[in-house]
Amino acid sequence: MIEQWHTLTLAAGSRPALILDTSESAKAVWPMIKSLTEGVLETLRQDCWPRIFFLGNPQPFDAAAFVANADQWFRANVGRGSVISPIFDVLETETDIAVVVVGNGLIFDLPDWHGHPLAERAVWCRYGPSSLTSGTYSEASYSVEQMAEKLHNPAVRIEVRGPSAMPVYWDDHSFRYEGGALVGEKTSGALTFGTLAPEPDTVTAHAVLSNGIRRNLELIATEPLRLPDWRNLTSKEDTLLRQCLRQGKYCCPHCSQDHPSGQWKCPDPAAPAIFRTLDEAGQSGFCLINTEPWQGLARPHPCSALQLADDLVAVRSASGQVVLMRFDSKGGRWLPTSEPFAPMHLVVNKIHALVV
Ligand SMILES: [Zn+2]
Repeated sequence: MIEQWHTLTLAAGSRPALILDTSESAKAVWPMIKSLTEGVLETLRQDCWPRIFFLGNPQPFDAAAFVANADQWFRANVGRGSVISPIFDVLETETDIAVVVVGNGLIFDLPDWHGHPLAERAVWCRYGPSSLTSGTYSEASYSVEQMAEKLHNPAVRIEVRGPSAMPVYWDDHSFRYEGGALVGEKTSGALTFGTLAPEPDTVTAHAVLSNGIRRNLELIATEPLRLPDWRNLTSKEDTLLRQCLRQGKYCCPHCSQDHPSGQWKCPDPAAPAIFRTLDEAGQSGFCLINTEPWQGLARPHPCSALQLADDLVAVRSASGQVVLMRFDSKGGRWLPTSEPFAPMHLVVNKIHALVV
């Protein structure tokens, strides 16, 4: 298995495009188009404002100047043909942006873009009797709020996956390994993660945008993350944990009954915490303990996947259940096994993993 480390950064995406129709057929509805656009700009945060285009004109206009210049821009663009190619030619590679077209009357060259993501994903807003798309796409008269929602298209989720890759450590602990991918909700910032795979460079990352579009994210190779430090167990914890390793149970200092290892809390709700260091270290993910030194040590592993052997990883679900995943070299995938995760699961030497 090859261990690799990558960083991804969620940069702000390109601004959406709001395309306004100023052709002959839309002249009569211009006051509506204008007030709708003003309403949308009032609704959206300024850093989410769209670029404004006029049908037939490849030049983007600055939304910040719309209110002051709308009628002047309208006069300068009125009577341009109902063609969208000049704009789609400019936006052609920006296939993950939100596009909204507002107008009335047929866009003549739209069939040329049939099947292209810009046309297929565009939102068609019609104010008037004449179809924009000749029935190819659905059209509606959207309200200001609906339009603002369609133009606002932030990243809502990040997914990191590879057919044969298993994440083993990452620095944003709200991320989880789920359904074969490292998944988390993130709208800005960066994520650094390590993966195991039999071959290098099999991992890809995507941002899933609120309108469902998936944006590919660049991965930069980076140094391994520094793992958390080992910390001392208290001598009481140390004694009880060694008892567990020998006997699979410990004598509870609160109720004087035996509790099996894995049951790290006394069932008596009034009992104080017995394993305070474990509680702190194992809030999420796993806790490692090392009983090699005279005074035992604990180390948090705050990720839901923990490497146990070259081809074996323990995955903790949100509910605390642990499944061991082993790499299947025939199928080239990580598959769940029926092997149990022991309450104090041996990792290496005198290091055991447990779930708190
Ligand atoms: Zn007890």
